[in-house]
Amino acid sequence: MIEIAEGKCDFCGTCVGVCPVDCIELQEALIRIDHSICIDCDLCVFICPIEVLSHVDE
Ligand code: SF4
Ligand code: SF4
Repeated sequence: MIEIAEGKCDFCGTCVGVCPVDCIELQEALIRIDHSICIDCDLCVFICPIEVLSHVDE
């Protein structure tokens, strides 16, 4: 499961563009991942420039 570090995201949108299943939702000051769609590919974890996202075992 991908965990979002609270208060760290600067909403640049980079992770949204790499997600192969479009499960990252970015609003003005909110980022959300639909875990029921996420395939745990970790692309968003690697692409985030400020390490907001991390892979945690469920
Ligand atoms: S791990 Fe992959 S599928 Fe899940 S949110 Fe990140 S880019 Fe999308
Ligand atoms: S790439 Fe990182 S900083 Fe940019 S929107 Fe995604 S989680 Fe936030």
